[in-house]
Amino acid sequence: MSSEREPVPHFIRNIIEDDLKSGKHQSIVTRFPPEPNGYLHVGHAKSICLNFGLALDFKGRCNLRFDDTNPEKESEEYALSIQEDVRWLGFQWDGGVHWASDYFDALYGYAVELIRAGKAYVCDLTPDEMRAYRGTLTEPGRNSPYRERSVEENLDLFSRMKDGEFSDGSKVLRAKIDMASPNINMRDPAIYRIRRAHHIRTGDQWVIYPMYDYTHCISDALEGITHSLCTLEFEDHRPLYDWVLDNITIPCHPRQYEFSRLELQYTITSKRKLNQLVTEKRVSGWDDPRMPTIAGMRRRGYTPAGIREFARRIGVSKSDNVIDMSVLEGCVREDMETSVPRVMAVVKPLKVVLSNFVAGETLSREAGFHPNHPEFGSREVPISREIWIEADDFSETPPPGWQRLVPGGEVRLRYSYVIKCDEVVKDVAGNVVELRCSLDTETLGKNPQGRKVKGVIHWVSAEHALPAEIRLYDRLFTVARPDGDKTRDFHEFINPESLSVVQGWVESCVQDSAPETRYQFERLGYFCTDRHEHMPGRKWVFNRAVSLKDTWTKETP
Ligand code: ATP
Ligand code: MG
Repeated sequence: MSSEREPVPHFIRNIIEDDLKSGKHQSIVTRFPPEPNGYLHVGHAKSICLNFGLALDFKGRCNLRFDDTNPEKESEEYALSIQEDVRWLGFQWDGGVHWASDYFDALYGYAVELIRAGKAYVCDLTPDEMRAYRGTLTEPGRNSPYRERSVEENLDLFSRMKDGEFSDGSKVLRAKIDMASPNINMRDPAIYRIRRAHHIRTGDQWVIYPMYDYTHCISDALEGITHSLCTLEFEDHRPLYDWVLDNITIPCHPRQYEFSRLELQYTITSKRKLNQLVTEKRVSGWDDPRMPTIAGMRRRGYTPAGIREFARRIGVSKSDNVIDMSVLEGCVREDMETSVPRVMAVVKPLKVVLSNFVAGETLSREAGFHPNHPEFGSREVPISREIWIEADDFSETPPPGWQRLVPGGEVRLRYSYVIKCDEVVKDVAGNVVELRCSLDTETLGKNPQGRKVKGVIHWVSAEHALPAEIRLYDRLFTVARPDGDKTRDFHEFINPESLSVVQGWVESCVQDSAPETRYQFERLGYFCTDRHEHMPGRKWVFNRAVSLKDTWTKETP
């Protein structure tokens, strides 16, 4: 598979083109390096599409590598979900899955090499002392009193750290760089720490773990990565990335390039905060359809092609920007417009009795699943004496320009006859509970004689339709930037009305649809059968992926 549309040029693409043209590289190798400490979100989708997309476009390779250096927070469940998400988005990594933990022995060896060269030392400062010695953005740091330990002492201490002689946090191995560097990351950063934690892959084999910055560049180099792409917050870490590789014996020196993170309005893209929503049960799980996780978007009914197109459209740059949700929804909607069948469903049902229709009798008419795609096939749309229409398609006091049903008025039933509302039935409280209508038998597939009927509404036959649980989603937060204000907690902005569940009716042709089948419900939006709770032939559960029109750019009244 390759990107479906022309790639949008961006600075990283230009760099790669130049590197291939100049012969610096014969082919490219990229990688997507998630930490398995949560489910992936839409920001990661951007990074996946970038890394895997470039490899596809330039006929290179892209690795999937887990950055598993933080054992307390990582789990097998997360690692599996990440692999599933990458594949679902339509990508396949080169060869097997890589793990930073595959390199623990090598990383240890390079640390010993640094110590031997006098470029790393074991430091006993407490975390508080370490902070005090580090200095600030305006003040240089001070050398640790342990900085001048001899190579022999450092080798001995580091090996004893590895053997578990020291308690957690009592010592670290630090790179010996420059405590006066204007870049705080270069002020003798820790590269190994002592942590007795069970690791998902190496178990209890190690009590020391390499730090991210040290691990990442070496892992890239060991895998022969040519272009190491990451988000802008790592820009200040690049000198350290290069320092490590320049000071060990390793044949490859990948180049790191940074791009801006994706942020999306009305949602959050931080694994930590998303994890909070899950553990606090604000949502049903990581794949709750309101979540901006890949699993959530999948369950909601977003398509992989729609998400890939979104990543293409937003582009890659170094400037910070918050993308409007309508861009994502627009891409998803556009994809489904031409790729999914259309059927009728009613989400807010109002019963209509067709008084001149014989009870028990059924008429039907064939209707195609898509106006522009006859190859999608067709089904029979049955009609019987009782039908459901959308309650919102009837009004006793219609606004100007109303073309739907009114008392005494006429409307066409999509794919079927023109009906006329003869009588409005109300309950004691005055609510409309039923309409009595008559059907004009001369109007199937043709206009009524001598009058114009403009309105067309969707409907389903009560006798034939399937009862369905329909889940309608709204934005998860009430403000565009729920984590944009540092003084207020994002919980304050959770939208209490982000989910409404209604009991509706759907055409019976969806009877056996598998989980994760998408439809357009005419005039309502795009829906997808639920991955977990929808049971073909028995229980019908639909999630609304997106409405038919953009409801995000204009404020909902
Ligand atoms: P979070 O801040 O949500 O925990 P992270 O950066 O810690 O995300 P990782 O698992 O380390 O998560 O990310 C894997 C890759 O995805 C990294 O290369 C990272 O730069 C990229 N990435 C993460 N978030 C975004 C984002 N919002 N936009 C673009 N790329 C992202
Ligand atoms: Mg990270």
